[in-house]
Amino acid sequence: MKTTIGPITIECFEGDITSQSDIDAIVNAANAHLAPGGGVAGAIHRKAGPGLYEECKALAPIQTGEAVITSGHGLPNPFVIHCLGPVYGIDKPEAKLLANCYRNALKLADEKKLNSIAFPAISTGIFGYPITEAALIAFRTFAEESPKLQHIRTIRMVLFSEKDLQEHLKAFQQVFGD
Ligand code: ADP
Repeated sequence: MKTTIGPITIECFEGDITSQSDIDAIVNAANAHLAPGGGVAGAIHRKAGPGLYEECKALAPIQTGEAVITSGHGLPNPFVIHCLGPVYGIDKPEAKLLANCYRNALKLADEKKLNSIAFPAISTGIFGYPITEAALIAFRTFAEESPKLQHIRTIRMVLFSEKDLQEHLKAFQQVFGD
């Protein structure tokens, strides 16, 4: 599913975040230490190779809601933007912290004059954020931030399962009315 806000296309697809070869920066649902782990971070570090963690060590630790950028190493993307999402029920206020992840990642990509960025559903795995609430926050933040972006032209949300995609498509319609 796609919609446009001015010159920016916002997309929502099922897929693997490590296989978005047409995208400048993929976003990692990172941990504070930017270490390889499970879920998205594990998949990104496996495909990127050990050089990514070497580069990450100098930038860690990061705060909840913060975003930092590295190169993509063995990934098909020139850059990775690492965000630390809130742990649901623990890091408060969780909605604001999750929105900060999306906002800060978009700002960072735009500052680097990147054309495209792809996100996984941050905090909805190990960190336990309910998928529908998280989807609404992601799309509302895209809608709020898009008019401020100078360089980004594609924002893609990549969902790892059909069920997560369906929840996101409902939220997408609710926010964008498409
Ligand atoms: P967090 O710790 O922020 O919750 P996770 O990596 O555990 O991060 O999961 C975040 C979301 O990413 C979950 O919905 C999970 O299903 C999804 N996910 C896991 N692996 C991938 C992948 N390779 N590509 C895209 N999404 C993924």
